[in-house]
Amino acid sequence: MRMQTKLEIERRELAARFWHMVRQSRDPDACWEWKGCKTKNGHGMWHSHHNVSPMLSHRVAWELTYGEIPARMCIKHTCHNPSCCRPMHLRGCHPSDLGHRKLDETQVVKMLAMLSSGVSQRKTAAAFGISLGAVAGIAVGINWRTVPRPANMHPIRRPPDGYPGPKALRPRPALCG
Ligand SMILES: [Zn+2]
Repeated sequence: MRMQTKLEIERRELAARFWHMVRQSRDPDACWEWKGCKTKNGHGMWHSHHNVSPMLSHRVAWELTYGEIPARMCIKHTCHNPSCCRPMHLRGCHPSDLGHRKLDETQVVKMLAMLSSGVSQRKTAAAFGISLGAVAGIAVGINWRTVPRPANMHPIRRPPDGYPGPKALRPRPALCG
């Protein structure tokens, strides 16, 4: 019990130290700028302790407000200001959503043309500024399946009609024994 209380105090102190580095505004729409050092992309960086690696300040702001960030979740700025730490301006999204949301159909057509001409998925991802997972999803036809695909690309694999799905194929546990 005492250990837990101590941990809670440490967390509160850590949170107070963090928010001290954020310029909080009373303006309901304003960004909360990070006052510390930044990455070359403009994201705030926070050193919680000397012996740990720095963390991105907007991700810390998210965690302190909403809880632990689920694995592979991206934290995006709705205000497009990379150093902003205002929790209201942060949105969690899955990397594949990121690819979905940022692209439009014209871009997907271009991307499919690049992939079909032999450009690697990694290079395509870099060219469009999206995750490799998002490109892979488009390449195999999981995402954007309504966009016409170049003839030399793999056809979208669909389960045959009436396929019950993997769940139904799992053996049922014995009822007794
Ligand atoms: Zn902002």
